[in-house]
Parts: sequence; C-alpha cells; structure tokens
Amino acid sequence: MKILVVNAGSSSLKYQLFDMDTNAVLAKGNCERIGIDGVVTHKRPGKEDYKTNADFPDHKAAIACVLSLLTDKDKGVIASVEEISAVGHRFAHGGEKLKKSAVLGDQELEYLESIVGLNPLHGPPAISGLKACKEVMPSVNHVGVFDTSYYSDMQDYAYIYPIPYELYEKHKIRRYGFHGTSHRYVAAQAAEMFGNKNAKIITCHLGNGSSITATVNGKAVDTSMGFTPQDGVPMGTRSGAIDPTVVTFLQKAEGLTAEEADKILNKESGLSGVSGCGSDCRDIRDAAAAGNYRAQLAMKILCHNIKKIVGSYVAEMNGVDALVFTAGIGENDRDLREEVCKDMSFLGIAIDEEYNQNCPRGEVADITARGAKVKTYVIPTNEEYMIALDTQNLTK
Ligand code: ADP
Repeated sequence: MKILVVNAGSSSLKYQLFDMDTNAVLAKGNCERIGIDGVVTHKRPGKEDYKTNADFPDHKAAIACVLSLLTDKDKGVIASVEEISAVGHRFAHGGEKLKKSAVLGDQELEYLESIVGLNPLHGPPAISGLKACKEVMPSVNHVGVFDTSYYSDMQDYAYIYPIPYELYEKHKIRRYGFHGTSHRYVAAQAAEMFGNKNAKIITCHLGNGSSITATVNGKAVDTSMGFTPQDGVPMGTRSGAIDPTVVTFLQKAEGLTAEEADKILNKESGLSGVSGCGSDCRDIRDAAAAGNYRAQLAMKILCHNIKKIVGSYVAEMNGVDALVFTAGIGENDRDLREEVCKDMSFLGIAIDEEYNQNCPRGEVADITARGAKVKTYVIPTNEEYMIALDTQNLTK
C-alpha cells in the first residue's frame, strides 16, 4: 500500500510517498514559493536530488507537479497515480471536535473551515492543499491528522484557563497543544524501549518551535503549548510563556496595535530576541562560544525553562520513567541535553555525559547514566510516518 503524506503551508507543500509494506520512503520533497515564482526539490533514496523552477500559481498546480514528478519516467517512483491508495494531510488544528485522525468528508471539511479563526496561519493553506489534492485525486480517501488531537484526553483542569468561563464557551479559548503527532510518535517509541506501555514519559520536542508533553498510559496529560504555539518554552523567535501583562503594558508604553505586539512576541522574541544573533540555535551556540553574553544568556534561559517544565510534569505525574529529546535541537544539541539534565539527580534523572557527546546522530540513543532511575533517550521524530500510519489504519 502506497500512501502520500502532504503538509501544506502558506507558500509551500511538503510531500513524502511511503510504501507501507516495507515502511520505506520512496520519494519526498518540497514545493516552495507557491504563488510567487515556484521551486521544487524532489528527493529519492540513493539518487541525486532534483531541483528546478516551476510555475506554481496555487496549491493545485503544486500538487499536480508533485504527481507528475512521482510518475515521471526518469524521476518517478511509481508507474501511475492509481498506485497511491490514500493521502494523509497534516493539520495543525482539529479544534474541539476532531479528536482523532479522520477521513475528511464534506462535514469534516466544513468544520475545519469553521475553525480557521483559531488557526489563521496554518488553517487556510492546509485547507487549500486538501481541496487541491481532492480535486486532483478524487477517487482516494483523504485523511486528516491533527497536531491537537493527541491532547484530546487531557483533563478539563489541564486545558481550561483561569479566565471567565464564558470566554472559553464563547471563543473556545483553552489549551489545545501542538506538535502532538511528534510527541505521540516519540512517546510510543520510548514506552516500547522502556518496556511498559503504561510508562510515564516526558517528551521534549525542541526545534524552531518547541514544546514539552507529559504522557501517561499512551495519553497526553499536559503540554506546554496552549491556545496557540506561543506558550511554553522560549523558541527560535517566539517568547514562550511570559507574564501576560507584559503584552498590554508594551502596547500602551510603545503605542502598539495588537498585530504589532503579536509580531514582537512571535517573530522577534525567543532565542533571536535575547541573543540578537538570529533564531538558529547553531548560530547562537557559535556566538556563545565566542564569548557573546546575550547568546550565552539565551541558551541559559532556554535550558532553565525546559528544566522547570520537566520538573513540573514529574510533580504532575507523581514520577517519570523516561525523558525524551527530539527535533532539530533535541536531537543535535548535545550540550543542551547535558545542561538540562544536570543537577536533576533528585528526580532520578542523570545522563552518561560521554555517550551523550558521542552517540550517533539521527539514531535512537539511550543516554542514561549507569544506575539512574529515569531513562533518558534521544529519539528522532517522524511525524510523516505517523501520518502515513494513521492514514493506512483508517483506509485499509
Ligand atoms: P522545525 O521546528 O522548523 O521543524 P527543526 O526540528 O528542524 O525545526 O529544528 C531546527 C532547529 O534545530 C534550529 O534551531 C537548528 O539550529 C537546530 N539544530 C539543527 N542542527 C543542530 C545542531 N547540530 N546543533 C544545535 N542545533 C541544531
């Protein structure tokens, strides 16, 4: 069974074609600059990457290009589009109703359109991508996999904010949580490695966007992102959690509109805002190593906040069996893992510092120190595979 996974952004459309019989990725790529000038990169294992300019006025043109590349005589990996059994679509937001991955019929599409206000950045392009794919591939099932759905079992006291309850009812303002597909994937892997599917697990997805999730018995019980991905730990350009009054104070003090304040907190804060060295963790590390105080401070703030959230989740779950690091920073920044896990022996967390510095990149690694009560793992995330798996399970 071959499954196409599509992740549509405002000006991009990423794709991966899976052969679910062998779990192999047959091809993957990205259509960028949709609606601008169009560039596509198409990759196949063991073959040279193919990159070219293409004319993408919209998402429909982009998906048509993807299908023609996948079936191309030279660059293709399948003989015809008929070989694709189903398409899995990544959605950041499933609202309160789409609590699980689902085949997307008219009703589901209507609901997704009704909640774009909750998700103004990712919702519209994801819906355009879905509609384009449905038009080009009308005879197969299209499945939606939602970042938020992993959090649909959280208790009300974990997701309701202490603001007037009527505002939750009227605007659906609550903690939704994001990156759920990644946390679900790595938490399941960690539970398997730990040898108990009921394990208590804390997963740290640290990339450009970062979130931390607590999982018990395979279900998320809390997560650091909230109503939007802005909450929780500091990120590349997002502040993460701050005193909410800072926002209204800033608006008054600087005479900012809501949009301007939002831009500062979303695009000009976090690691970038503190360090002044951009949002890429590697650049900040380089600057810090060269003695840049603000770069050093940005990394300290990040580690301090990760530690605080990990500790709070241990308290919430009355213990922890495994701590997991994943995504760009979590998988690659060895010093960050060391800094976060330092002085956590009271909680039973300790890592083998030498192995942490030397374990192979891009692979699952158990970096637990000998004798430590809590396991610490590095697990590469694979959201696309999870989307393909859900799509297979819902359509086979
Ligand atoms: P996204 O949230 O866009 O999917 P990624 O998970 O790819 O992001 O993570 C991107 C982040 O990972 C960037 O800040 C990048 O600097 C960081 N990163 C990648 N490789 C390394 C590395 N070797 N050391 C430190 N940080 C790294």
